[in-house]
Amino acid sequence: MRKLLEADSLTDINLIAHYLQGNGITVEIQNTQQSAVLNISPFSGLVRPELWVHPDQFSAAAKLVARYQHEQASGTDEKEWLCRGCREGNPDNFGSCWSCGQARK
Ligand SMILES: [Zn+2]
Repeated sequence: MRKLLEADSLTDINLIAHYLQGNGITVEIQNTQQSAVLNISPFSGLVRPELWVHPDQFSAAAKLVARYQHEQASGTDEKEWLCRGCREGNPDNFGSCWSCGQARK
């Protein structure tokens, strides 16, 4: 596996991971278990979560991330819906909340 990126929050990593998985990329998130064991909030910034992908899929994944970030920045894909369970924002194409799994309604 090869490290693709790291982010300040697990939220960012999860959204990108979900996006990549939806496009056929196998992803692995690291530095999340560590924080759980130490009982440190993943949002504390002490441990930066990392997204790893298979080397064969690295360039495809990098392109998808670039497209994803472009969509975020340009606001063309702004049909976000808010989870009623945990109040997290979810991309329009998610049928259930990435964070808590509650179905979209
Ligand atoms: Zn939720």
